Amino acid sequence: MAPTFADLLLSPEVLRAIDTLGFEEPTPIQAQTIPLLLEGRDVLAQAQTGTGKTAAFALPIVERVDTARREVQALVLAPTRELAMQVAESMHNLGATRGLAVLPVYGGQAYDRQLRGLRAGVHVVVGTPGRVMDHIRRGTLNLATVRTVVLDEADEMLDMGFVEDIEFILNEVPEERQIALFSATVPRRIEALARRYLRDPQRVTIAQEALTAPQTRQMYVETQQRDKIEALTRILDLESPGSAIVFCRTKREVDELSGTLQSRGYTAAAIHGDINQAQRERLLAAFRDGRAELLIATEVAARGLDIPDVTHVFNFDIPDDADAYIHRIGRTGRMGRKGDAITFVTPREMRQLRFIENQIHKNLRQIRVPTPGDIAARRQETLRASLIAAIESSAASVYAPLVESLASEHSPLEVAAAAIYLANGGANGRHDAPTPEEHPEDESVTEGGMTRLFLDTGRKHGVRPHDVVAAFTEVAEIPASTIGTIDMFGDFTLVEVQRRVAPAVLERAGLLVFNGRETHVTAARESRDPREKPAPGRKPGPRKRK
Ligand code: AMP
Repeated sequence: MAPTFADLLLSPEVLRAIDTLGFEEPTPIQAQTIPLLLEGRDVLAQAQTGTGKTAAFALPIVERVDTARREVQALVLAPTRELAMQVAESMHNLGATRGLAVLPVYGGQAYDRQLRGLRAGVHVVVGTPGRVMDHIRRGTLNLATVRTVVLDEADEMLDMGFVEDIEFILNEVPEERQIALFSATVPRRIEALARRYLRDPQRVTIAQEALTAPQTRQMYVETQQRDKIEALTRILDLESPGSAIVFCRTKREVDELSGTLQSRGYTAAAIHGDINQAQRERLLAAFRDGRAELLIATEVAARGLDIPDVTHVFNFDIPDDADAYIHRIGRTGRMGRKGDAITFVTPREMRQLRFIENQIHKNLRQIRVPTPGDIAARRQETLRASLIAAIESSAASVYAPLVESLASEHSPLEVAAAAIYLANGGANGRHDAPTPEEHPEDESVTEGGMTRLFLDTGRKHGVRPHDVVAAFTEVAEIPASTIGTIDMFGDFTLVEVQRRVAPAVLERAGLLVFNGRETHVTAARESRDPREKPAPGRKPGPRKRK
């Protein structure tokens, strides 16, 4: 059974800090490394960002620092300024209940700020090798009291040419010290460094058997942390999942995400370790019977639950290892059914993704975040399909007399558009046609807007919308995605295409033949808004009744 944080013999105050951060149980790298570091051993650990490696070295430091002595007792070296800041922040959070003082020092930041911090006395310094070495040389950082040194992302530090700086620094720390070396890969140079400076190091790697992934479509989206919610909601809007689970790393994230999603109008049930059994049952029941469309959960909370098969699994955070990944995505695509698994990856976590891919012997397909234009286009497609179904079933024919009477004063196009508008909730509904005005950031739509083309062939000639799409894509060779609304009438058709591809269609106009009938194509009227009706009185427009 997986150990708990308490099993790792961390003190109650540190356990409290862990709980505040919302971590429910140690990740594999933490479960293996923490006991060794608490014992004072040197460790060579192979782990990348996304495995929980930071807390793996930070927790033993937090636990072992003597906070009564305001002197530098631990030094963490990291390759970049962002990583140094991130590690310092994690260390600060994990050490909050113990009053741990952590100072990041990195190049690019003014010295005086760092000097003030160093003078005031801190327990832990997290820095980039170059700047740490500068401080040592200037006599502003004294490492005589350091007991633990961490080399974080050691392979990257070596790749960046920091080897001499690191050796200089390691020669400055006392003989009696502990060193933890974390590296995503362990090439020979890292082994050499370990041999030289580590004493009888314990090697930690997370053993993985070869895993086969289920028959689920596996995809990933690369996105910054701050853009994840927007990316998730867009994918939800595009895909309209029948049922979906969203996995988050921490309890806090589950609460935050479900709160935000609810405020945006999604019904979400949130489940994590602080939610008691009775509540869980209630929430799960709501999810099972469709009252909640989304289940937001930590992996740990989801583990013991009888969750029905879902159509989509979202990894809002990348899982810490391939096992966890397989376990999470196993919630979809069961019993040969179709399932999609979409993993969100920040640029820093790309190595962790590659690592997981390596373990599962499969590459995830990268997808991009849908634009508002994609979502609007998908909604229109769905709407179009239901309209066609209604037309073909003749169920709507009871309204024919009403349309007939309206059509004496309004064009059928206007009547139909008004009917769809009302069916979609009227003024309160969602009417997001992919218009450039509404989505200025959406290139596919803004690129010159839409052009409406007029074809002198219509339904009466036995032509259907898919024939038009086929002709335009095959003869005019334009992508189907550039074709907008197709309005078919008895003896003519109005087709919208993106303005940039219109010349290609017009050029090949002479080649368009439908059911043996040569068809003429002309530009009906330039329109930026696909919903705008064509100019009245223009060449056989929609007013011209059949
Ligand atoms: P790292 O691999 O250190 O970059 O950590 C990746 C992310 O995992 C960070 O956002 C941590 O806050 C989070 N994390 C670390 N340990 C745990 C844990 N035991 N449970 C949940 N989240 C964790």
